[in-house]
Amino acid sequence: MKILILRLGHRAGRDPRISTHCGLVARALGANGIVYSGERDRKLLESLKKVMKEWGGSFEVSYEKNYMSLIKNWKGKVAHLTMYGVPVQNVIDRVRKEKNLLVIIGGEKVPPEVYKIADWNVSVTSQPHSEIAALTIFLDRVFKGKELGKKFPEAMKRIVPQKSGKKVIEK
Ligand code: SAM
Repeated sequence: MKILILRLGHRAGRDPRISTHCGLVARALGANGIVYSGERDRKLLESLKKVMKEWGGSFEVSYEKNYMSLIKNWKGKVAHLTMYGVPVQNVIDRVRKEKNLLVIIGGEKVPPEVYKIADWNVSVTSQPHSEIAALTIFLDRVFKGKELGKKFPEAMKRIVPQKSGKKVIEK
């Protein structure tokens, strides 16, 4: 299953950490790429690309100003994560059947047209929280926990898990 994340409404001055974490979570938990919309932020894209280079895998990072055209041209289904949507546990079996999935996560305010165009508006609890948490739980439900063992080929750095302390193998 190919999963692309679309992160809406990035604000360069205010959101760099949250937006970076959306990208890191998307990559670590099995998505194939992330597209940022909102304000163009060269530093954000560069810092993520540096992580990809060091830690391996084939995750794509890019920026798209016109997110509606990206959504309209997407060849597959669209899931929009929002606290107003239907509970993730009610739709996830259906979502898992898709080959290509675009997952939209918002920022401060998501325009109504996104709700209308989405095949699924999906909530992770009907409580307000965070795009990072919503994305994490959504991806974990899609992959049923298998993403936890994902391998990242051609990594320059690899962690050897330890009971205590830090061990990193560097190429
Ligand atoms: N009013 C927004 C909404 O519609 O969910 C909350 C904004 S929240 C700070 C930013 C993003 O986090 C949302 O656009 C959504 O993608 C995600 N989010 C927050 N709470 C969520 C929830 N309970 N379920 C799914 N996604 C959520």
